[in-house]
Amino acid sequence: MDKGSSIAIIGGGIAGLTTGLVLQERGYHVTIFERDHTPMNRASGNPAGILDPSLTNRESLEGQFYHTAMSRALDFYSSLGQQIFLSRGLLKFARDSSDDTLCFPDLGVISPPKIRDILAKKLRIRNNINITHFTHTQKWHLFAGDKPQATADAIVICGGPLARDSSFANHLPLEAVRGQITYLNAEKNDNLPRKALCGKGYLTPPFDMNGGATIVSGASFSRNDTDLSLRGDDHRENLENAEILWPGISKREITGGRCAIRAYSPDHMPICGPVADQEQYQAAYEMLKHGPKHQNFIPAPYVPNFYAVTGLGARGFLSAPLLGNLITALICGDPLPVTQAVYESLHPARFLIRALKKEK
Ligand SMILES: Cc1cc2nc3c(=O)[nH]c(=O)nc-3n(C[C@H](O)[C@H](O)[C@H](O)COP(=O)(O)OP(=O)(O)OC[C@H]3O[C@@H](n4cnc5c(N)ncnc54)[C@H](O)[C@@H]3O)c2cc1C
Repeated sequence: MDKGSSIAIIGGGIAGLTTGLVLQERGYHVTIFERDHTPMNRASGNPAGILDPSLTNRESLEGQFYHTAMSRALDFYSSLGQQIFLSRGLLKFARDSSDDTLCFPDLGVISPPKIRDILAKKLRIRNNINITHFTHTQKWHLFAGDKPQATADAIVICGGPLARDSSFANHLPLEAVRGQITYLNAEKNDNLPRKALCGKGYLTPPFDMNGGATIVSGASFSRNDTDLSLRGDDHRENLENAEILWPGISKREITGGRCAIRAYSPDHMPICGPVADQEQYQAAYEMLKHGPKHQNFIPAPYVPNFYAVTGLGARGFLSAPLLGNLITALICGDPLPVTQAVYESLHPARFLIRALKKEK
């Protein structure tokens, strides 16, 4: 798309803000629509986010993606200023006795509220607007109920689990997974971790939250559960995992917690790229079910200028900056920041293709 084209981003979480910033820096006219009174108020609204590396085999597509994402995230957050980091240094504990514990001195804990404050100043964000539907006639027309909100040359859906509410993207197989974190009193701060600790759960070092020293322990994982009330059982689960990481920590007073919904794809890789027109796509590639003989296909039929960045799962702060770069490269025709194979492992249409091949 030509520089200066208008791009509407639906959803002001970390995916929407990082994507919006990279697009804006490449010369596009970006507006972010957020249904809440402030951006980064849902999954991206925790007081602390761990940059937890994936230890998946580096040869695998997932390993390659998260390895590239990790260095991109470090560059991106460092460029916003060192105050973004609540602490540096992360210990990743062995999954079983054959693994070593690994230390990552540059990774650590970032502050989502500080990221929000910095990015919100740089971007045009329209809060309190719940985009309910959009239509396409040459341009995209966005509506909140019966009120037209904007026209745009392109749309990027960054709505977390709510991407599946859009009639154009409801074939994306997203699962909503509830997560709860637990706040622990760290006022008497002798014998507390000085680095982030990651194992089955995670623990942050103490940091200042609303004037009191706090440690965050997380995060519970309940599939197909969208209830946002805090649960005693989830606090207990978090503390059991925390106790393995730092014996004695579970005796500390619980001062609160927070709950939100993550969006997961079935293969747990994010979903990032142009959205297919489901019916036309299935018709165009139907012959895939007959196996590898049928090699000649027409170019992919996509919904025009319509993209998605969602399914960021439990590592959204790590992956969002690279996904923002990928969408921007696709929109402006730059070389991709990942290999073609990694791009295909993130592509929104991969589930349609897999389903067709399965019919073979
Ligand atoms: C308890 C918990 C702990 C976590 N801990 C970590 C961690 O330590 N490290 C890490 O990397 N990740 C962590 N994650 C995961 C991370 O928070 C998510 O992957 C990330 O926040 C997803 O970002 P997002 O922008 O895709 O979604 P969201 O942050 O959910 O943003 C989507 C936004 O879109 C808006 N929206 C949706 N539909 C519309 C619409 N129709 N119109 C307007 N606006 C709309 C929503 O209001 C929302 O603000 C955690 C998640 C949870 C729940």
